[in-house]
Amino acid sequence: MEKKNIDWGSLGFGYVKTDFRYVSNFKDGKWDDGAIVTDDTITISECAGVLQYAQTVFEGLKAYTTEDGHIVTFRPDLNAERINNSAARLEIPVLPEGRFIDAVTKTVKANENVVPPYGSGATLYIRPYIFGVNPVIGVKPADEYQFRIFTTPVGPYFKGGAKPITIKVSDFDRAAPHGTGHIKAGLNYAMSLHAIVTAHHEGFDENMYLDPATRTKVEETGGANFLFVTKDGKVVTPKSDSILPSITRRSLVYVAKEYLGLEVEEREVLFSEVKDFAECGLCGTAAVISPVGKIVDHGNEICLPSGMQEMGPVTKKLYDTLTGIQMGRIEAPKGWIHVIE
Ligand SMILES: *Cc1c(COP(=O)(O)O)cnc(C)c1O
Repeated sequence: MEKKNIDWGSLGFGYVKTDFRYVSNFKDGKWDDGAIVTDDTITISECAGVLQYAQTVFEGLKAYTTEDGHIVTFRPDLNAERINNSAARLEIPVLPEGRFIDAVTKTVKANENVVPPYGSGATLYIRPYIFGVNPVIGVKPADEYQFRIFTTPVGPYFKGGAKPITIKVSDFDRAAPHGTGHIKAGLNYAMSLHAIVTAHHEGFDENMYLDPATRTKVEETGGANFLFVTKDGKVVTPKSDSILPSITRRSLVYVAKEYLGLEVEEREVLFSEVKDFAECGLCGTAAVISPVGKIVDHGNEICLPSGMQEMGPVTKKLYDTLTGIQMGRIEAPKGWIHVIE
């Protein structure tokens, strides 16, 4: 198929309308068959559940072209599992077995002309989401829902190399104990907006959130999990019930152990330990790993020994190995690469 004439290298991370999207409706207790459509707009009641009480969950994954020319997605089975976990927590009906991957596959196939070529650094970002559509005014779950997937081509995350970022310890909390921090829901992002705008005004790139109960343990940022490296080369990643289970982080843990032979600790991480770490990175689908160079806690600066110029050596190895697996340059564990075409 002929590719659309897009300057892949200069794309940013913004919405670019593509030709096709997927829609499936839940009504009378069941999901319909779903279909690919062209209409990018949605008409719903002014009183829709999603508009009044934020009943919506989402996912984020990427389609891209591997070295040998296949269009693939990375571990979509984990996104399928996670969207259903998120849905169940918000009383949204789960998707039938197999539906999520089938819908992602159809949507990417339909938009094949905007899947960036290998080597461009760009990818096709895929955004699946489910939301309540019928009128809800008394507080209760909606009865009718829509599951949609749109795609948008996005540029290379790091233009001209991954520069370490500076983050601040936030005075706001991201997720309550026993709350919704572990699910991928818009509501977790709505309340993070003021915190991130505040951080940006103060000159920081991101927020580090601590556990809200004791404010002594590291949780995550607004949209990425933490990965630390100790001075003796161990990988440490925070474990908490209110952290979103990042697929990138789980994959990096596997890569660290099985490909690089590193020791990995998934455990509670005290903020007081952070000053002793050698490297720090943020992991998520968008960047895979963003290196962190400096962490500021109310004026106290923690400068990671890896510095402000480049990724730490262990972070770099993790990054190169996982992106190598994703792009088909390194053999992937069974089931990690979902070939679409
Ligand atoms: C999506 C998300 C992540 C990253 O998860 P990936 O599956 O690696 O993309 C991390 N934290 C939060 C809060 C998220 O919403």
